[in-house]
Amino acid sequence: MNAAWVSLHSWAAQNGYRGLRVLPLSPSAAYALTTLNGVFTVRVGSQTAYWDQLDIRLGFPPQLIGDQIYLHPLDINKTLKPLARGLTVPTTAQRVVVIDPGHGGSNPGTRSIVDGRLEKEFTLDWARRLSPLLEQKGWQAFLTRTGDVDVSLPDRTAFAEAHHADLFLSLHFNASGGNGDPAGVETYCLTPTGMASSVTRGYSDDTDQVFPNNTFDAENLRYAVRLQRALLEINGATDRGVRRARYPAVLRGSSQPAVLIEGGYLSNPREARKIADPAYRQKLAEAVARALE
Ligand SMILES: [Zn+2]
Repeated sequence: MNAAWVSLHSWAAQNGYRGLRVLPLSPSAAYALTTLNGVFTVRVGSQTAYWDQLDIRLGFPPQLIGDQIYLHPLDINKTLKPLARGLTVPTTAQRVVVIDPGHGGSNPGTRSIVDGRLEKEFTLDWARRLSPLLEQKGWQAFLTRTGDVDVSLPDRTAFAEAHHADLFLSLHFNASGGNGDPAGVETYCLTPTGMASSVTRGYSDDTDQVFPNNTFDAENLRYAVRLQRALLEINGATDRGVRRARYPAVLRGSSQPAVLIEGGYLSNPREARKIADPAYRQKLAEAVARALE
């Protein structure tokens, strides 16, 4: 990395923010920057940052240079700046949202450890509950599938393009690959060019790649933060973070802002029992709708 790292002190001063506080935590100090729209907390050596206590993954661990914390310029431009400018998103009338229930047909997705039911069934149910709620809030909502059918990933993004979507929202549930017994919600948007992804799932992650969806890096992050925040309010305490990834083809291939939600772990018995409850799935839908008000 040759790009010049940015002193958070200097950046804060240049942008008129006075509230950079040092929090003397072990094993390394954390720094909390108060902006008009929220508090950004970072720690030397850690890619986990917080926006108003919400877990946001940075592209690069901040460095201590002299006695100041420095951030990579991509984290300044692609993470801190869009958040500091506020989480407002466009609110023109009759915006179009394409809701994408993950999987379908011969592609079942993951399976509930509790009752064997399939991810494809739960994502479709979530999407069906969400659609009328968004319509009530002034969105025009379309689903990439309305039944248990195969839809290819390119067809899903092409569908959004054909409907002139303002937002593409892909709904999934998660399963652990065997490392522990995780639970909680993750929200993904496309990794900005130049950054390594927070999650690769074994796919190659070429940081030089520029995708059309990278045009929407700032809006992607704002939508992701709004959605993750709203989902945590109903999911409980397990914040698995706003993350960046390149492998989801529905994010890369989207020609409008796009976010993918992993709404909980079907491999975790406690969470799988919640997801099996229609009342909980209604809450998930209501949380998404609230985030898009
Ligand atoms: Zn899935």
